[in-house]
Amino acid sequence: MKNDTLEANGALTPAHQADAHHADDEFPTLYERKDQYAGEATDVIARRVRDILVTLGEDADREGLVKTPERVARAYQFLTHGYAMDPRAILESALFDEDYSEMILVKDIEVYSLCEHHMLPFFGKAHVAYIPNGKIVGLSKIPRVVDVFARRLQVQERLTLQIRDAIQDVLKPLGVAVVIEAQHLCMMMRGAEKQNSWTTTSAMSGEFMRESTRAEFMRLIRPRA
Ligand SMILES: [Zn+2]
Repeated sequence: MKNDTLEANGALTPAHQADAHHADDEFPTLYERKDQYAGEATDVIARRVRDILVTLGEDADREGLVKTPERVARAYQFLTHGYAMDPRAILESALFDEDYSEMILVKDIEVYSLCEHHMLPFFGKAHVAYIPNGKIVGLSKIPRVVDVFARRLQVQERLTLQIRDAIQDVLKPLGVAVVIEAQHLCMMMRGAEKQNSWTTTSAMSGEFMRESTRAEFMRLIRPRA
């Protein structure tokens, strides 16, 4: 679960600036919670949510629901805060020259996202590897890039590709591999027979297109026995 750093800034902080306050030794703190809401947007969304409650037949004035529209408005702004962040800036903020040219793997990165078809959560794990070509990136930046893309309305396939492409574009490594395994509530809550189904997506580039490199990556991300 991620209820770590609570930042209550009034304005959106550019990702690379926000990061300057947080040393890399915070890893594996994968998420910074950004509780930053535009008042006007909160009001607009909250009014719509109230309409939805009434349309569903609820009494929007009963005690348990009085503050629900505003809570939902804030929650959805938090769950989509990735739109305001620049994944490339995050990567560029911690690039280092390094001759290391073996696979670097960050596995079991928690992913929480919203499917864009139902606005319901999908969640699971991401595994990201790359083979450097003269540049490495601070390890904590990889989960942050995953989060920036996950905190948007998504489909799992596009999320996987966007993570690969951002790392490929900025680091220009010899190859990038991304695998995401996730469960989708829009499937699980609506079909009793699908409650244990996991969806796996993958995106590879460069060296990972070679069978041997890909096989090594897949072996490394296999769950520990
Ligand atoms: Zn869905």
